[in-house]
Amino acid sequence: MTGTSEVMEASTDFGHIIASSPLGVVTARSAADVRELVSFAGPHGLPVSARGAGQALYGQGQAHGGYVVDMSALDDVRCAPGERTLSAGAGASWRAVVRAALAEGLTPPVLPDHLGGSVGGLLSTGGLGGSSHRYGLVADWVRELEVVTGTGERLVCAADRRPDLFHAVLAGLGQCALIVRATLALVPAPTHVRRYRLYHDAPGTYFTDQRRLARDSRFSHVSGQARPALGGGWHYMIEAVVPHDGGPPADDELLIGDLDHDRDTEETADLSYAEYVHRLDRDERLLRATGEWDRPHPWLTLLLPEEAAASFVPALLAEDAQRGLRCCGTVQLRPLSARTLRAPLLRRPEGELLCLLALMRTAPPAAPDVVRRMVAANRALYERARTVGGVLHPVGALPMTPGDWRDHFGPGWPELVGVKDQYDPHHVLTRGYGLWT
Ligand SMILES: Cc1cc2nc3c(=O)[nH]c(=O)nc-3n(C[C@H](O)[C@H](O)[C@H](O)COP(=O)(O)OP(=O)(O)OC[C@H]3O[C@@H](n4cnc5c(N)ncnc54)[C@H](O)[C@@H]3O)c2cc1C
Repeated sequence: MTGTSEVMEASTDFGHIIASSPLGVVTARSAADVRELVSFAGPHGLPVSARGAGQALYGQGQAHGGYVVDMSALDDVRCAPGERTLSAGAGASWRAVVRAALAEGLTPPVLPDHLGGSVGGLLSTGGLGGSSHRYGLVADWVRELEVVTGTGERLVCAADRRPDLFHAVLAGLGQCALIVRATLALVPAPTHVRRYRLYHDAPGTYFTDQRRLARDSRFSHVSGQARPALGGGWHYMIEAVVPHDGGPPADDELLIGDLDHDRDTEETADLSYAEYVHRLDRDERLLRATGEWDRPHPWLTLLLPEEAAASFVPALLAEDAQRGLRCCGTVQLRPLSARTLRAPLLRRPEGELLCLLALMRTAPPAAPDVVRRMVAANRALYERARTVGGVLHPVGALPMTPGDWRDHFGPGWPELVGVKDQYDPHHVLTRGYGLWT
């Protein structure tokens, strides 16, 4: 068991909105440590949550009146290039995963944009990144998991070995088991990429192009942003990437000639693949230097049916309530194709084409009223999104009741209740999401 500073750290997270103290923090150095803690806590009804990199936004990894298992020491990463797999401890960061894979000329097919999160934390929410429109979730490329269930059992599961447990853990919000180790599939990494930034003045042309790129496979990575325009309004940017081997560059005309962006402002850059996957490291350093990294982050992430996004997004950005996003936040958009998203517990809207909308707001320090208003705005927006078929992507700052979660999982709820009762009968794991009363 660790001391006061660890308890203080485990009492908060990147969101800096919810703060609740656990009774203690246990640093796991092996699966046996996790097993021992859960075996003790379960029958006593004491909450247990894993903590990876602490990137939760609304207390999802906290364990009020119980124990936090600090996974950060379970950080070893072993690459097996012959098998094209990599085995990582749950506390390893995605930076460490990328380092080990790239040393062998390999990469996970899908990586999160930001590499600072932990393997276990990201897999428990699913994990989305630039190549998700083609290759689905980060979790869809997991070959095997070693976990500790809420009954304190250490089990290994895969698609063909205890599949019910495997599918309950991937994107399963830590409800049935804590991840101790994951084996990931790898593919050959490109040496270089060509990155296009394509600007649109109007949402109409942006969404038409986004739709087109979600359907075809000309780019390996596609994401987008809405950015404040000078003098008011918003413009939109598609970032699209094509891999190459450092030889003659791709045929630009073939790749972007039929798109509807402003040809005068398009930007093209050739980067090494490593530079590309680490593209947000510099932003993180900047935000840490300005102090914004440590401020409250009332983020909201939604998955919308693509046809609804084209009107929903511009309408909400025009509202007074979202004015703060112009100075202190990022509006991220990402085309997705439902066909590629496989983890059954990831909730998604109906339809083939989807759009992820992430409102990544930063609140001023020491202004709890402002934060409360932003969280209330998240709730209002979530309810509006549901009326157009949107669903929550559960990595934001949003109060959710057990009834909301029942609605969220919809027809999948009875099955989740069944696996929860089987693998975590005391309902002690990862209570921070508030799924149960
Ligand atoms: C700056 C930033 C950038 C992000 N970028 C992306 C992105 O590009 N793509 C994306 O999909 N998401 C992204 N996210 C969301 C983030 O990946 C998720 O919130 C993820 O759950 C964080 O995991 P963590 O271990 O880093 O954080 P933690 O706060 O430690 O954990 C988050 C949740 O996962 C649970 N958890 C942690 N470890 C385990 C484990 N071993 N077993 C079971 N449950 C566990 C915790 O209990 C908690 O509920 C980003 C978040 C931030 C703050």
